[in-house]
Amino acid sequence: MNSRYDLIVVGGGASGMMAAGRAAERGLRVLLLEKNKKLGEKLRISGGGRCNITNAEEDERMLLSKYGKAEQFLYSLFKQFGMKSTFEFFESRKLSLVVQGAKRAFPKTEKAEDVARTLEAYIKKGGVEVRYGSPVTKVLMGGDLITAVQCGEVEYSATDYIFATGGVSHPETGSTGDGFKWLADLGHKVAKPTPTIVPLAVSEQWVKDMAGISLDGMKIRFFVDGVKKFDLSGKVLFTHFGISGPLILNSAYKVADLLHTGVVTATIDAYPKTDLGALDKKVTAIFDANKNKLLKNITSEIAPVGVHKGILMLLNGQMDAATKVHSVTKEQRKKIVHLLKALPFTIEGLMGFDRAVVADGGVPLEEVDMKTMRSKVVSNLLITGDLLHINRPSGGYSLQLCWTTGYVAGSHAGV
Ligand SMILES: Cc1cc2nc3c(=O)[nH]c(=O)nc-3n(C[C@H](O)[C@H](O)[C@H](O)COP(=O)(O)OP(=O)(O)OC[C@H]3O[C@@H](n4cnc5c(N)ncnc54)[C@H](O)[C@@H]3O)c2cc1C
Repeated sequence: MNSRYDLIVVGGGASGMMAAGRAAERGLRVLLLEKNKKLGEKLRISGGGRCNITNAEEDERMLLSKYGKAEQFLYSLFKQFGMKSTFEFFESRKLSLVVQGAKRAFPKTEKAEDVARTLEAYIKKGGVEVRYGSPVTKVLMGGDLITAVQCGEVEYSATDYIFATGGVSHPETGSTGDGFKWLADLGHKVAKPTPTIVPLAVSEQWVKDMAGISLDGMKIRFFVDGVKKFDLSGKVLFTHFGISGPLILNSAYKVADLLHTGVVTATIDAYPKTDLGALDKKVTAIFDANKNKLLKNITSEIAPVGVHKGILMLLNGQMDAATKVHSVTKEQRKKIVHLLKALPFTIEGLMGFDRAVVADGGVPLEEVDMKTMRSKVVSNLLITGDLLHINRPSGGYSLQLCWTTGYVAGSHAGV
């Protein structure tokens, strides 16, 4: 048995580092146990390596409304450490932040590494003892309290414990769901995680063949069994498995619901601001000016960059792309115009956890004192970050939750 600590933090990701640093700053003797050789692996890949550190929405009500049903539980926490505290925390440690589109805040350097380094410096300054390569394998209980955690043969004990082991998305970063298992064993209800901000898998090859192309100003309509359900406007990124990009990622949860009700199909309107009649006139004029060219050589003039490839693939089998434009019949031209307004494809499903940006699931907020992050089931346990069951969109909202819950837990542990 190793010497006793005031606090043991299990998991050195975003929320665990914040919690450990904050507790140490208050003078607590803190041990941080991390199974990886490095802290903050997921943080380092966040925001594509740029780290969307928070969302700079100043209207707190508006900001918290993004957390859906969790909103009502978050006011007290955000009073203690809100979005502005995040700015102050990082900027006072010489990491300037910049606000970009949709109020997404990033470090000015656009390097997630710098965010991780700032937190590492914070815990170092407070004197947190960090044990790398130390996976907690067992949680020991005595009555209603945690008495120790085991890393293989070694036992560590403390007055309080913070579980900050993250969820299950991108398990290669270390978040393999260990905390969910322990929390369930300790008597917490743990909501089953589902990937919620994920790309969509598509059946059709033409979509996959457009991998790497990103199209702005598109309108996508979603249907169940042919009946329109909702539409989205913005940028779509084509990938080798389907479609992605922030617009799609943030709507995946709606598509997940549709997938339970029937066959989900979608169409992309490449000219949402032009009606069918006007588009037909535009295409006719281009055809008239290029009568002797091959159809395949002028599709790039009638369709936005990238979409022309999709059009040719969709026409394959129905129309010979090597036909001279003057031989294209009126019906065939109308078919092309219709495709430009509604390129069809089928949604196979949501991509799995390996591609999820955020997976929900975890402890329901009713089981946590949402002023301190202390468990209502085990009184010397506090819970932070992705272990909490809070649905949220992408845009800096997840990391803000980590800073908030980590700071609050670190402020109340050991008292
Ligand atoms: C690709 C990607 C991009 C993202 N981009 C953004 C973004 O730009 N903005 C944003 O707000 N959110 C983003 N997120 C979400 C955000 O990164 C997470 O919400 C956040 O990192 C979760 O932090 P955490 O402290 O809860 O857990 P994690 O960061 O998952 O950390 C958990 C830590 O616990 C350790 N651990 C696990 N089990 C054990 C064990 N048994 N013993 C010891 N240690 C253990 C792990 O190794 C890990 O270091 C992104 C997520 C992904 C996957």
